[in-house]
Amino acid sequence: MADSFDVLIIGAGASGLMCAAQAGFRGKKVLVLDHGSAPGRKILMSGGGRSNFTNTQVSSGHYLSSNPHFCKSAISRYTSRDFIDLVARYGISFEERSHGQLFCVESASQLLDMLLAECRQAKVNIRMDTPVEKIKSLLSQTDPEDTPRFRIHTGSGKIDTRSLVIATGGVSIPGVGATPFGYKVAEQFGIPIVPVRPGLVPFTLQPKDKKNLQPLSGISVDAKVSCPSAVFTEKLLFTHRGLSGPVILQISSHWQPGQTIFIDLLPFGSLEETFKKEQGTRPKKQVRSILYGRLPKRLVDIRLQGFPADRAIGSVSHDQIRQIASAFHEWQIKPGGTEGNRTAEVTLGGVDCNHISSKTLEAGDVPGLFFIGEVLDVTGWLGGYNLQWAWSSGYCAGQYV
Ligand SMILES: Cc1cc2nc3c(=O)[nH]c(=O)nc-3n(C[C@H](O)[C@H](O)[C@H](O)COP(=O)(O)OP(=O)(O)OC[C@H]3O[C@@H](n4cnc5c(N)ncnc54)[C@H](O)[C@@H]3O)c2cc1C
Repeated sequence: MADSFDVLIIGAGASGLMCAAQAGFRGKKVLVLDHGSAPGRKILMSGGGRSNFTNTQVSSGHYLSSNPHFCKSAISRYTSRDFIDLVARYGISFEERSHGQLFCVESASQLLDMLLAECRQAKVNIRMDTPVEKIKSLLSQTDPEDTPRFRIHTGSGKIDTRSLVIATGGVSIPGVGATPFGYKVAEQFGIPIVPVRPGLVPFTLQPKDKKNLQPLSGISVDAKVSCPSAVFTEKLLFTHRGLSGPVILQISSHWQPGQTIFIDLLPFGSLEETFKKEQGTRPKKQVRSILYGRLPKRLVDIRLQGFPADRAIGSVSHDQIRQIASAFHEWQIKPGGTEGNRTAEVTLGGVDCNHISSKTLEAGDVPGLFFIGEVLDVTGWLGGYNLQWAWSSGYCAGQYV
């Protein structure tokens, strides 16, 4: 004899818990299943433990997808303001940092507690440590309103459900339970997958650059970084493995393997103009010491290799000035690759949105099957956009399951 629910959600993460509470508040009998031992593990990790849970400026322009219009409906029906109101109702203190990013002042665990409290109020059942073995479609020709449409086989028994929600997220950080389960379910029901790859992820370097830049490990500077399809200005961090920091995470989602990135180490002024001014006012000043006032010494020394760094600026030709300026404003690096899913914050690609309703999040050809959150081919920029997508898509699906 199978257990029976109106709504079964696989994945007790950000989108799954939000969807569960909403469905429960509508009077649905809801079960959330997860193979992990604890819910919301990525929520707890997010924003370095303080969760950058949304952004004040959410728009569809902050998302990457092969269907760029898809996210518009959900993010306009459940907005960052709606989530902020929920957070405020629970008395969770938060602060705004740069670029409209909102973080918890104390701990990301307060958000998870809030979602679990919502689920309790909505009488949602949550079963952890429950891997799903098989999903069987029970779709019949007649399909009356109250009959189950799916049978889920788990190690601890069978469960029937009318609505099945896949909220299993992306494949980054397998150590906290990420799996490609959602993609396999999509394939089982004939829904295509947009090829997946790691996003918001540090770059590794080619062996020669890695050796050369090793001494810079730990240095962080403001930088403008561009690749053929995007440009961002934020902090760049040199690590012992390669390049990281917010500007690299942002650009990594737009970068394609083999492409060169351009780094401007002095994004807020022209070095050529600075040098020309110094030639007029302090011609005896060394090239190196002019740059020491603007960037960390180790970085300056590495970028000045091959240039007359110790010459007085007054004796440096215009041509050399242009070349030195270019070494700092247009540093070209071809990354070796990325650190991959081990450290990526998100997965680019996923369940093809062209086969999912942007209003209900239900699969067009499979009544009762819903996909929400990161498992879909919707990936936000760094800055709270990914969690907002989880809240918005979870909330909207919760109104229709
Ligand atoms: C280190 C890190 C920091 C981040 N920081 C931020 C941030 O500050 N702001 C932001 O907006 N985004 C951030 N993100 C991204 C954000 O956490 C995710 O986009 C978001 O959690 C996705 O929500 P989701 O519900 O789709 O999936 P998840 O929250 O990942 O939940 C998926 C759930 O499904 C379960 N599951 C997976 N496979 C199976 C299976 N086979 N059977 C049963 N259950 C399964 C998992 O155990 C998990 O509980 C960060 C991500 C990482 C990794």
